[in-house]
Amino acid sequence: FEAEMARLAQLNLVGEMAAGIAHEIRNPMTTIRGFLQLFRENDGRMQKQYIPIMLEELDRANEIITEYLSLAKNKQSHQHPDQINRIIEMLLPLIQAEAVMSGKHVQYQMMDCPVIQLDDKEIRQLILNMCMNGLEAMSIGGKLRIETYREPEHVVLLIGDEGTGIDEHHLEKLGRPFFTTKDEGTGLGLAICYSIAARHQASIEVQSSPKGTTFYIRFPVLVDGADS
Ligand code: ADP
Ligand code: MG
Repeated sequence: FEAEMARLAQLNLVGEMAAGIAHEIRNPMTTIRGFLQLFRENDGRMQKQYIPIMLEELDRANEIITEYLSLAKNKQSHQHPDQINRIIEMLLPLIQAEAVMSGKHVQYQMMDCPVIQLDDKEIRQLILNMCMNGLEAMSIGGKLRIETYREPEHVVLLIGDEGTGIDEHHLEKLGRPFFTTKDEGTGLGLAICYSIAARHQASIEVQSSPKGTTFYIRFPVLVDGADS
């Protein structure tokens, strides 16, 4: 029954997103069409100036489609019992490089945690999306925290930043496809995170203030012998 509910919720999401993606893709197409028309009507002087913009628009449309597909594809989660710390260790160099490039740094602390049911690829994507958001929220630098620790029934993944925080009236919109406050945002990153978390029976808690935002992702601990 629960699987059925999740499937219905997913279908509903996909439908809502079809409208969103049509809108998001039509904008760049309109821009590019406008430029092409302009090119046809003059001798090509303007091409040098406008081609980079057209390429950017195409890249953006491409990014939206890629992210959309990773959300909409009703793909199977390939979960197996694993250490979340292993996945974080693999990603750290990438996240650190990304942070350092923009004048930020990463602080991590990984406690011994029991294994949980994980789909490597999905969890990697969840961590990356959240870390990128954290880094993007810290326009003047700061510290990105990545921690794991154990609670009685959960393994907790904490991702925290010292960014500008999330407006209170934006909190309820988090995870809604295409909700973004960024000029260049797709608004799909968190939607993907929430759908990945749901597939892992994980909850997401957000604490935010003007001094920063912290996400707590709680994964159920595998119980020996129980088939839950
Ligand atoms: P995008 O990053 O493309 O805007 P996301 O789905 O990743 O899309 O995030 C949606 C919105 O949620 C962001 O535009 C931002 O307003 C808000 N948000 C998410 N994470 C953070 C964070 N760590 N700090 C502040 N705002 C955040
Ligand atoms: Mg994002």
